[in-house]
Amino acid sequence: MCGIVGYVGNKIAKDYLLDGLETLEYRGYDSAGIATLEGDTIRATKVVGRVEQLRKEEGQNPHVGSVGIGHTRWATHGGVVTKNAHPHHDMNEEFFVVHNGIIENYEEIKSFLLSKGYSFYSDTDTEVVPNLIAYHYSKTNNVTTAFQAALETLRGAYALTMITTHEPESLYVAKLSSPLAIGVADDELLVGSDALPIASRTQDVVFLEDGEMAVLNQEGYKILDIETKKSIERATEFIEIEEADGGLRGFDDFMSKEINEAPATVRSAMLGRLRVEEKLIKLGGLELVEEQLRYIDRIVVVACGTSYYAGLVGEYLLEEIAGIPVEVQQASEFRYRTEPLSRSTAVLVVSQSGETADTIAALKKLDGSGILTLGIVNAPGSTLARMTDAGVYCHAGPEKAVASTKAFVSQVTVFLLIALHLSKTYKDYEKIINELDTLPQLMEEVLKNSTDIKKLAEKYSDSKDFLYIGRRYSFPLALEGALKLKEISYIHAEGFAAGEMKHGPLALIDENFPTFAYALSSDINEKTISNMQEIKTRGGKIIAVVDDKNSNAAKLADDYILIPKVSEQLQPLIGALPAFLFAYYAAKKLGRDIDKPRNLAKSVTVE
Ligand code: GLU
Repeated sequence: MCGIVGYVGNKIAKDYLLDGLETLEYRGYDSAGIATLEGDTIRATKVVGRVEQLRKEEGQNPHVGSVGIGHTRWATHGGVVTKNAHPHHDMNEEFFVVHNGIIENYEEIKSFLLSKGYSFYSDTDTEVVPNLIAYHYSKTNNVTTAFQAALETLRGAYALTMITTHEPESLYVAKLSSPLAIGVADDELLVGSDALPIASRTQDVVFLEDGEMAVLNQEGYKILDIETKKSIERATEFIEIEEADGGLRGFDDFMSKEINEAPATVRSAMLGRLRVEEKLIKLGGLELVEEQLRYIDRIVVVACGTSYYAGLVGEYLLEEIAGIPVEVQQASEFRYRTEPLSRSTAVLVVSQSGETADTIAALKKLDGSGILTLGIVNAPGSTLARMTDAGVYCHAGPEKAVASTKAFVSQVTVFLLIALHLSKTYKDYEKIINELDTLPQLMEEVLKNSTDIKKLAEKYSDSKDFLYIGRRYSFPLALEGALKLKEISYIHAEGFAAGEMKHGPLALIDENFPTFAYALSSDINEKTISNMQEIKTRGGKIIAVVDDKNSNAAKLADDYILIPKVSEQLQPLIGALPAFLFAYYAAKKLGRDIDKPRNLAKSVTVE
């Protein structure tokens, strides 16, 4: 969570800091702030709210310094009030810090510092950091040593940047379990939580590793191992940023833009990989581990949120098409679970950002185990992409809306490609390959008919609760649909396997508790229709997603959304769209902040 930026160079720092924070705002948007060296002192400007407000506030008294740091916050410790916004400083205002993550032992450190006469003004965990650096500086008179000594005490997760009046030409950075990138351009060094803000100035980037710090100044950057204090040589890498700016291109918000990009996302995920003529799936990212893959007899998929639901679709696909047993686990559970894993198991992580803290921790748990690790990741060069033995990029381009849509679709596409790639004897192999080729056009048809979905969403937007149900491939869709509705419209929604209704959830049903039911063609659709009947019998309203307007499901439902008919294995790709649009239009009708829903942030880099 949270975005951090830093600048040292020969230009006015605040221009990069503010633009960079805007690019990173998807990561956190409770409050924002910058601090720059202005002559002999450091001055901070902070606001509760968005970068836009920060720009206005800064405009009243512009920052002119050429060394600075900035932050958009996703609060973990302390309410969303100006005093808790970053940058934070020590009691003498000599060291200013921005922090992404959580300092788990901050209370211990705070007690220690209080006993030494230090005072505090905020409720954050972060504020101990500048004071601890100040404490060590008072002992050593050396900024590098003080920074390093403070870092050695910190437990938890951090990406930190610091500026100080004691070394006004330098910017200090450090990383433990939260991402941090340094861009190296002519005459300036740029820091970001990821490479996106940096890309407007340079694509030559160095990524810090866990346990490393760096000192940046006009001469360049110097990386040090925090523990051993040894210096580390690391050259820059050229990072291809697919879409550095990612403007709205006429859409009202990023979520609608991204939903509309879903067909292009599927095309892009298949590009060069789906060889229709040759009836072949070519996955360059797996070539290195082809031999090992042959001996894999179980895959554990590890992910969070929407990626976890894409993983559940992947489970059905890999089991049916590739015949490999799959288990899907939430990364936050997997990381703390004691589970025997044999060497013939592969762990496959799924993450849009590639920076999801729990998923990274889950992978770290496997260090030294010899277990093959694979990734389905969207952000190129991200931590998870670099940590895994092999993987397949989603190529969905940057996703800015907090509610993930096109990333889900691209993840499911990649699962399908992997399943086909690993399949040896799947009976419908050719049929699915042919269908995949034309699927994006069918997805476009759904998007063209979004006005009908809009009307329905508006009609049901005053509901307080919603159930989503589906079976087999549509079951994860029900979970994902419910997640989408709750996260952006704040309407309470739950997803269930349709067959589970009578084991509890049916008790909730009455005329005010509608159900969004997936009733797409399959050999078990009649079972879902029976469950819909049970809901109707109890007075519940139903919106059904159907692919046949003459089906019993369409007749039974109060309202239905018609989508094109495809093979069941492809239904999650096209079937996700009505749920995305329904949630989108309901949220819009309710006047919600679609791209930045309350209490949430993109790229969940805290535990
Ligand atoms: N833990 C810090 C705070 O609550 C930083 C949170 C963040 O990553 O934005 O202020």
